[in-house]
Amino acid sequence: MKLVDQLPELLRQMEPQIVSWRRHLHQYPELSFQEEKTPAMIADILRELAFDEVRTGVGGRGVVGVLRGSRPGAVVALRADFDALPIQDQKEVEYKSKVPGVMHACGHDAHTSQLLGLASVLAKHREQFAGEIRFLFQHAEEENPGGAIQMVEDGAIEGVDAVFGVHLWSMFPVGNVYISAGPIMANVDDFVITIKGRGGHGALPEQTVDSIVVGSQIVSSLQTIASRNVSPLDHVVVTVGTFHAGDNNNVIADSCRLSGTVRTFLPETRDLAEQRLIEVAKGTAALMGAVAEVEYDRGYPAVINCDKESEIARQAALEAFGEERVLPMKPVMGGEDFSYYLGKVPGAYLFIGAGNPDHNATYPHHHPRFDIDESAMLVASEVLGRTALRYLEQHQS
Ligand SMILES: [Zn+2]
Ligand SMILES: [Zn+2]
Repeated sequence: MKLVDQLPELLRQMEPQIVSWRRHLHQYPELSFQEEKTPAMIADILRELAFDEVRTGVGGRGVVGVLRGSRPGAVVALRADFDALPIQDQKEVEYKSKVPGVMHACGHDAHTSQLLGLASVLAKHREQFAGEIRFLFQHAEEENPGGAIQMVEDGAIEGVDAVFGVHLWSMFPVGNVYISAGPIMANVDDFVITIKGRGGHGALPEQTVDSIVVGSQIVSSLQTIASRNVSPLDHVVVTVGTFHAGDNNNVIADSCRLSGTVRTFLPETRDLAEQRLIEVAKGTAALMGAVAEVEYDRGYPAVINCDKESEIARQAALEAFGEERVLPMKPVMGGEDFSYYLGKVPGAYLFIGAGNPDHNATYPHHHPRFDIDESAMLVASEVLGRTALRYLEQHQS
């Protein structure tokens, strides 16, 4: 029997171990750029599986495991992230976080565990495929500049022909797979606007330039980027998330600080939104006699799935789960640093449903009660396993 056809049963045998890894990681989460025990545990497991190469400290804290098949062939990379978030776990389960104020509230513990499960199965059957499967375990997905770019710069995907990754998603029902070619997740850019007016007595506005009034006007004017500058057929989000000014009820605030985020898909829209945000902030401030300084930081680029690789992943998922369970993925305005891999090699990023009211898995990602239906992990590893094997088979040298 071909390895791809044995996968479901081999993974099922691994499920208790996958769940136990996930629950361990869930209890001992580590923040972005502070991961130590997690990468050490991953490297230990890969070494125990007699991986052909295990590189630690890749790009700082990443782990890369290389598994070579019996014959030369293509190189396919599979990526899982492993960082947690600064959130206090409020779930009532026996595997809740033991680290105060830190929690796996995005499911990266599950990403890592399912990929370790797949690594275990493939390591024991490496004589049954040609080429190389490279496992990328990535630190710091949640925090700029992110671990992906660091791992890419450290050579993690040198020689890779295609890269695939998944995100478990609690807002989608467990059992389903979501895959589409094209834009999937947005460009994520952040800004800070500092407005300098002239403070003074609250009863003598004629002697001042009120930075709060200027700031309010800027917040309103920024809404026209979406409504008047970007085409209604394109996508943009401009959100002002903080607005800080003033200390006293009878004092006109000297300065005001706004910060926020801009989300887009197309590079030209990204440029336009940045240009307009700076013009609107500075222009509005000048109009009112104030000065605005703008810091604009470009974060993760948009995740744009490649046509061919998305189709390979979709066929792999269809083969496993059939048409009712394999659905198109609508783009979301969230961000993912998987885009840095896609900037170098073709590939695709998939979503795997992990929501289930029977398992209290109904809370959104980054919520203090976030959880998943753990059976989603097996769906993820089967889709990734089938995708990798299918890719290698189609690209035999
Ligand atoms: Zn997240
Ligand atoms: Zn995430």
